[in-house]
Amino acid sequence: MILRKSPAEVEMMAAAGAIHTRAMKLVEGKVREGVTTLELDAAVEKLIRSQGAEPAFKGYRGFTGSICASPNSMVVHGIPGRYALSRGDVISVDIGVVLDGWVADGAVTFPVGPVSPVARKLLEVTRQSLLDAVEQCRPGNRLGDVSHAVQKRVEGEGLSVVRSLVGHGIGRDMHEDPQIPNYGQPGRGPLLEPGMVLAVEPMVNAGRHMVRMGDDGWAIYSQDGSLAAHFEFTIAVTEDGPRILTPWHELIDAGAPLTPVA
Ligand code: MG
Repeated sequence: MILRKSPAEVEMMAAAGAIHTRAMKLVEGKVREGVTTLELDAAVEKLIRSQGAEPAFKGYRGFTGSICASPNSMVVHGIPGRYALSRGDVISVDIGVVLDGWVADGAVTFPVGPVSPVARKLLEVTRQSLLDAVEQCRPGNRLGDVSHAVQKRVEGEGLSVVRSLVGHGIGRDMHEDPQIPNYGQPGRGPLLEPGMVLAVEPMVNAGRHMVRMGDDGWAIYSQDGSLAAHFEFTIAVTEDGPRILTPWHELIDAGAPLTPVA
């Protein structure tokens, strides 16, 4: 069952999203050679708590971090730790914020200094696939339109959509219905209605789409060791169209769009 939020509830989620955006901007300013993922985690947790909010991931099924920090071939769910960023890395940072019981969720993959052409393309295409998906988050469309938009962009550029991980509805719970695959058929699936709030999160490999789990039981890697990227927004479907509740793209240049977005 897809829970619809009232306009007042969407505003509550937007307030959580505003803190999320500040946290992501903080990360952008700290991403550089030599910084550990645990240092990024600590800075984000401090900022979130200073705003009277809580990190959504901390303690979730025993997860120890306030962020997920996933370098290079790690797709998602990296536990922050001693890993120090190197020049040429890509680092995916996923942040969840809970404010007054409402959750905002979003992710960005950052380049660490200059990166390879393959990495640059991966970031640009994955970010653009998310922006393509946003355009589909309007009343009257179907969920398959959102999924298909990601797949079309990613596969059209010769990259691979990770199929075994999906986005999700979001609200009082971080993971609500529906599941949102990053591939699918246009015109299929649930009808989008005002008040639905979706965490859309393309996860893309530069190589093949298959993934494997790491030894810690959390980290997910591309199976072929190719670079991976992850971009995510929490998006409200409103009468007026899509509303991005975690608008980090307004502040962060990483992986600038391939085409202007109106
Ligand atoms: Mg998510």
